[in-house]
Amino acid sequence: MNTKPTYEHFTGDPFEKEQPKDETKGAFRVIEWAYKQYGSDIVYACSFGAEGIVLIDLISKVKPDADVVFLDTDLHFQETYDLIEKVKKRYPKLRIHMKKPDLTLEQQSEQYGSALWKRKPDQCCAIRKIKPLEDALAGAVAWISGLRREQSLSRSHTNFVNKDERFHSVKVCPLIYWTWEDVWDYIRLNSLDYNELHDQGYPSVGCIPCTAKAVGDDRSGRWQGFNKTECGLHTPRSDDQ
Ligand code: SF4
Repeated sequence: MNTKPTYEHFTGDPFEKEQPKDETKGAFRVIEWAYKQYGSDIVYACSFGAEGIVLIDLISKVKPDADVVFLDTDLHFQETYDLIEKVKKRYPKLRIHMKKPDLTLEQQSEQYGSALWKRKPDQCCAIRKIKPLEDALAGAVAWISGLRREQSLSRSHTNFVNKDERFHSVKVCPLIYWTWEDVWDYIRLNSLDYNELHDQGYPSVGCIPCTAKAVGDDRSGRWQGFNKTECGLHTPRSDDQ
């Protein structure tokens, strides 16, 4: 575990053979390892969902001035922006970057037509989320994500440390073994602020046009009406994005 994994030199998850038994199910140890390995060359891409709040709390114990990127699509709920303000007050040293897309909503409408998310959500996500994260990760060797294995089939094979083909980076996922109950137990135990919409039937909160109340699993309220379950940040590159 002495050689720092990079995209160019990736030999597998260094924690692959470990079965974490501590109360954070390995998360705290992985976060400590990540900041020791990458220092300021690692970025946490946070959506400020329930997992995000947990990770911010854990990360701030290891690196109080960590870099945190929020992809500000200009389409988030006011409740999400309110939560970010609360987080800034609770963790004043955190460096929270509100990363905007290159195009304003007006420019996107002029170039691609209005309400692109209704017609081509993949293209809209590519403009408002994927490209901004690409820009935010430029120069960083690794990034942190709050993926959990139980969230969906596509996330069930996620490791603590992953070679990330989407952004040609290393993706560190400390919460892979956490259940939805674990997340909420931690939030309540530590009296963490969270998005008020979680109490109103929205377990997963994203952009306003693409978030509805859940009707099944935690992510069933996202992109209802489309065969789409991911914004593309966690799937390999494709030519249409
Ligand atoms: S989640 Fe919806 S509104 Fe937000 S960037 Fe993706 S398609 Fe556009």
